[in-house]
Amino acid sequence: MQRSVRFLLAWVLILALTISTLALPRLQESTGGSVPSTGSVLVLQGESSWGLLDGRITATTGSRYAQNGVQLVPLAQTAAALGGTVTTDGGTVTVQYRNRFLTFTEGSWSAQSESEPVALSTTPVTVDGVFHVPAVSLSHLGWTVHTTGYYDGDLVLLSRTSLPEDRLEASLSSALELLGPNAGLFPSSSVLLRLDSRWSVQNGKTTAMSETTDAVTPTRSGSTILVPLNACAPALGYTVTPSGNGYLVTGHGTSLTFSQAMVSTADVTAKLGGHVYLDDASGAIVISAYSLDAKLSLRSTALEQAGQLTLLDSELAKGYIALTFDDGPSGSISSTLLDGLKARNAHATFFLCNYRISTFPQTMDRYLAEGHEIANHSATHANLSTASSSKLAQEIDTTNRTITQRTGVTPTLMRPPGGAYDSDVLAALKSRGMSCILWSLDPMDWKLRNTEKIVQAVVSQVEDGDIVLLHDMSNASVQAALQIIDILQAKGYRFVTVSELAEIKDVTLQPGQIYYGFTD
Ligand SMILES: [Zn+2]
Repeated sequence: MQRSVRFLLAWVLILALTISTLALPRLQESTGGSVPSTGSVLVLQGESSWGLLDGRITATTGSRYAQNGVQLVPLAQTAAALGGTVTTDGGTVTVQYRNRFLTFTEGSWSAQSESEPVALSTTPVTVDGVFHVPAVSLSHLGWTVHTTGYYDGDLVLLSRTSLPEDRLEASLSSALELLGPNAGLFPSSSVLLRLDSRWSVQNGKTTAMSETTDAVTPTRSGSTILVPLNACAPALGYTVTPSGNGYLVTGHGTSLTFSQAMVSTADVTAKLGGHVYLDDASGAIVISAYSLDAKLSLRSTALEQAGQLTLLDSELAKGYIALTFDDGPSGSISSTLLDGLKARNAHATFFLCNYRISTFPQTMDRYLAEGHEIANHSATHANLSTASSSKLAQEIDTTNRTITQRTGVTPTLMRPPGGAYDSDVLAALKSRGMSCILWSLDPMDWKLRNTEKIVQAVVSQVEDGDIVLLHDMSNASVQAALQIIDILQAKGYRFVTVSELAEIKDVTLQPGQIYYGFTD
């Protein structure tokens, strides 16, 4: 035990040394060899562990620190980058460059130069073991020191030589582009969103996006992720105003028109100049006016924060719909449907017949794994309202048994074939703890067999809380179902299972009871 603990400690030590070696910036390396003869330019940023040395991203071991409104920089690293040397003697730290030097004392309001005391605008301070001094005091060494305000990136640029105005501007804007806004400003230049969540983080505040547009909840439509224009454009410095049938977006000297309130993340990047970061697992979406490629820790923190936004609840979506598919599974037709549902993050309920399950057993493994609900649609698609009691029991139990054996889950929902039931059917279901699920919207897909007509029948009539009757028996039905989802998702509808819909509508499904839908 002790032996393994010692081994562990040794490994932790080796790991720590390796990490610290890797993390130690190029700043250190540049002190080792000969001092470059041309001026190096170092840009540091408040609250950031990244800096820029001669235009290249570099880690900093002591982040720039502000005190009394004055910007301080880590002395050793700054000196190393610009070719200065630092020596420590008791309580004083001296930085030297060519024939000039400054001696700092922690807590003292003045530093000693080679000729006279230099007044400091704040006192040197040690933060996390790193000695920091007021940035502007280093200009005494002949270095150029330029600082930008908090809202201009909170940057400190240090150069061994004076820089022409254009090169100074170029260095600062390139630093801002690469480093992004300072950590404190980050939320005001970015928006954090989450798929299926009406919440967002803007200006550092978690806010519910209001219903000022048709749809406000980020959603997936096929392989495209749609985000609300109102939520992402302001973060990028644009204003959005309704205009005609669409939205006018103005800012940065341009104006753009979008026909829809929901725009793809690709549009955000291409048209609005935003940077989009996604996390598939949590549905996190981070849109930033700045590239976060160099700010990995900031990016991961933002993604994590976005991934924790509350998912929508019943008051948030435009409406909830339960698509139900009877008479499957149907081999490749069911596979196409399942693929389409998965791509759209839509869930459905499948009322299965035992004789179909036996023909396509492999389809069974996908339903539950992909978030759908499996329910009973009899064994042989018999008319249960005219069946004998033994036949009735057999029709229900055979299918339940097969599904349980295959998936480990016993169905609690039953749809009698043709919707035909009588009191015996309801009694049989009640004794098995099962509810009878019919439908509130029937587009007659099995009869129409025409994708366009099926789509029209549903989207023209659908209401929040509907149970829609469909069959995964034909390509027309499957294609219609996927188009219905695309159209209604873009309007803010969500597709859930029958049991989820009941729960959302605060209905506890009772055994032996009939449910047509959950519309108001
Ligand atoms: Zn049927």
